Amino acid sequence: MKTFVYIDHFKGEAQPASWEALGLAKSFGGSSPLTTTALVFGSGVDDVAKAALEYGADEVLLADDPALLDYRAETYAATLSALASSLNPDLILFPTTARTRELSAMSALDLNSNVITDATAVEVNDDNIVVTRPIYEAKLFEKVTASAKPQFITLRGRAFPKPDQETGRTGTITKVDAKTDALSTVEGYSVAEVGVSLNDAGVIVSGGRGVSNNPSLQPPAGLDDKQTEVWRAQQGFKLVGELASVLGGAVGASRAAVDAGYIPYSNQVGQTGKVVAPDLYIACGISGAIQHLAGIRSAKMVVAINKDTDAPIFKVARYGVVGDLFVIVPALTEAFKKKLGK
Ligand SMILES: Cc1cc2nc3c(=O)[nH]c(=O)nc-3n(C[C@H](O)[C@H](O)[C@H](O)COP(=O)(O)OP(=O)(O)OC[C@H]3O[C@@H](n4cnc5c(N)ncnc54)[C@H](O)[C@@H]3O)c2cc1C
Repeated sequence: MKTFVYIDHFKGEAQPASWEALGLAKSFGGSSPLTTTALVFGSGVDDVAKAALEYGADEVLLADDPALLDYRAETYAATLSALASSLNPDLILFPTTARTRELSAMSALDLNSNVITDATAVEVNDDNIVVTRPIYEAKLFEKVTASAKPQFITLRGRAFPKPDQETGRTGTITKVDAKTDALSTVEGYSVAEVGVSLNDAGVIVSGGRGVSNNPSLQPPAGLDDKQTEVWRAQQGFKLVGELASVLGGAVGASRAAVDAGYIPYSNQVGQTGKVVAPDLYIACGISGAIQHLAGIRSAKMVVAINKDTDAPIFKVARYGVVGDLFVIVPALTEAFKKKLGK
């Protein structure tokens, strides 16, 4: 099985799930591993290529060109399609990101193939590839057999083990041509998400509408009712953020919190937000609506803090704390600080 692994990165910072994809590709060979080829596209991305070798790639095909400085579907897909049609891999693996969803779809179309997205398991037996992926808001897992060649598969982040980095490990880096024709130009970026990314986080602490519910907090003078609600929610999210920070985690939110203007959409977890897979998910003041749960089904452990004993979130929580988050969350932060010596 000739496997390519596309290393997704933003300005030279690789998506950790790219290394998970490399680890998966290496596992296909069983006791006699096959050559694993990493694909690195960009401009000035030698370090990404070297890291790919350190994470287990045997060789890297590097398209390094100023025209690839910014990700654009046209240039990246054309470069990928040209490489795949000349080198004929059986399989191309990607970490699932917004970029790779677009890139894999566009290139698969070029090559008259298909894409299976968001895989949580991939079995390869001889020429047979069977992919497992969640459907119906992750209530069901479907197994799909893929026969097109090359088969494009995007892998759900944190669904596969990340291999250890072997510093100084080397291999062949081969320069390949970039396709540079594009209709679009990237004019710039603005940051929407700060801190640890939800997609890669091992720990996520999320806040819901409940973070605004602390009537005893006195707002600054002159705020109207809506401003008071948002101000209170900001105090609540400060507590959520402190707990996340002490655990080295990211801050998430329910849609109700996002819609009410407490926190940006980039923090939203759920059906219409991000689907996450942390080791630990702490839900604070979140009721556990089905659309929220759709985003956290792959979390290894859910802890819920809620005033309402009957909140549905407790049905999916391993541990539940019934109480006021404004009391419980700071107490947890203090306890973790002590335990972790911070
Ligand atoms: C098509 C569609 C897509 C959607 N997509 C998403 C999505 O992606 N993500 C998402 O989250 N939702 C989504 N929703 C919305 C979803 O249905 C719920 O409305 C939303 O998740 C509720 O958010 P919440 O739990 O924060 O608010 P609520 O349901 O209002 O719950 C607030 C909770 O906080 C508790 N609480 C209040 N005060 C405190 C306190 N001081 N201490 C502790 N607990 C307290 C309450 O007991 C309650 O359980 C979607 C809905 C639709 C129709």
